[in-house]
Amino acid sequence: MKKLSNQYLEEAIEDSKPYAANGEIKPDIPRMDEKMRDMLGVTIITPDFEIYRAGEYDQTVPMQSTSKIIGLMLALQDFGKDRVFQTVGMEPMGDFFNSISSLESPANEKPFNPMVNAGAISVASLIKGQTVENRFSRYLDFLKDITENNELKMDEEVYEAEVNNGARNRSLAYFLQSTGTLVTDVEDALDLYFRMNSIMMNSTGFARVGLFLARGGYDPDGNKLIPDQHLRTVKAIMLTSGMYNASGHYAVEVGFPCKSGVSGSIIGSVPGVMGIGVVSPPIDSKGNSTAGGALLKKLSKDLELNMFGIENIKDKH
Ligand code: GLN
Repeated sequence: MKKLSNQYLEEAIEDSKPYAANGEIKPDIPRMDEKMRDMLGVTIITPDFEIYRAGEYDQTVPMQSTSKIIGLMLALQDFGKDRVFQTVGMEPMGDFFNSISSLESPANEKPFNPMVNAGAISVASLIKGQTVENRFSRYLDFLKDITENNELKMDEEVYEAEVNNGARNRSLAYFLQSTGTLVTDVEDALDLYFRMNSIMMNSTGFARVGLFLARGGYDPDGNKLIPDQHLRTVKAIMLTSGMYNASGHYAVEVGFPCKSGVSGSIIGSVPGVMGIGVVSPPIDSKGNSTAGGALLKKLSKDLELNMFGIENIKDKH
């Protein structure tokens, strides 16, 4: 087993960077361009808040789909597990994350899970608040507490692009409205979803979210913000669906809960061990960062992070 250090992370990054050539940067996201093609940054934070970082760890990108796990936590807080999963399923989906056809399957009646677009829009419609602004500020305040970063905000230009390029998400949302799945007004659910996607964050912020899930839902000041049962639910859903229709592959090759976004961001959460944040914009056809994914596989192997292994408990025998 390798020892975690900044030096080790630099080496791991150099090993993983060539995989960026297998991906493409999503062209319609403001703040992201071809200059970011070779970019790879990582932050790891341990439960006693030791921080390890390497590469372009400070580069911010829009959260995109990594925002879906925060929305799920808030909805679970607001309504509890039974009510949330009346609105959205908890099963993995074999189709792409913005699939429309899966919604119409008579066997389903609701989106497959909260990690795909339709599921996240349903979840967004559950988050409590009088107006979209109230709901979004609850969302942002929760994220600021988790990441200990009061500067976090939505990028207006990214938000405008989400709205202007949102035809597919609008189709999903209006279909959900037709089946009675949405709790709020359809445009309100979409607006909150677009805002969540547009929050800018760096790898350290992503790592803090992973750590929050990994160490019992405490903010850095020691306040417990979310009960264990909800944390377990979120991590299980991340493991089975967080990397979309490559989640099985990541469960086998990485073996801990992860959530990706089309900005090339990934949140990793190794229960009791560490939070990992990765940013590398080129993504594969399923929407996952190619170099970021390669890096997670390497970290899992070198640092023995696979939760299905017995490596972590070897020392205790
Ligand atoms: N903004 C993207 C969308 O709604 C987010 C999807 C993603 O990151 N996979 O399609």
